[in-house]
Amino acid sequence: MKFPFSDEPNTATIVCCHVLEKNEPILFASHDEDDGMWQFLCGHTHETDEARIISLLAAFEIDPSIGELKDMPCGYYATRESIEDHWIVNKIHSNEGDLNE
Ligand SMILES: [Zn+2]
Repeated sequence: MKFPFSDEPNTATIVCCHVLEKNEPILFASHDEDDGMWQFLCGHTHETDEARIISLLAAFEIDPSIGELKDMPCGYYATRESIEDHWIVNKIHSNEGDLNE
């Protein structure tokens, strides 16, 4: 399977422990505006100690459907209801008030 991202495969990427252990699907993705870091999370709320750093390639191998987001610019995030649904991309609000959702 071809790696679709323009980022290097070894780019540091944040996932939550649920995604890493494949207990939960990836339902939230963000591409950080400040440092360009990708995050792929299960969509539940998280404690900071549930974050894991892996390579972008490893995240892609967990769920190749994140490749759909390869062109999502920095400063945007995407959500989906389930892995069968398409990603819905939105701009990240600067005050990040919706992270408490
Ligand atoms: Zn999680």
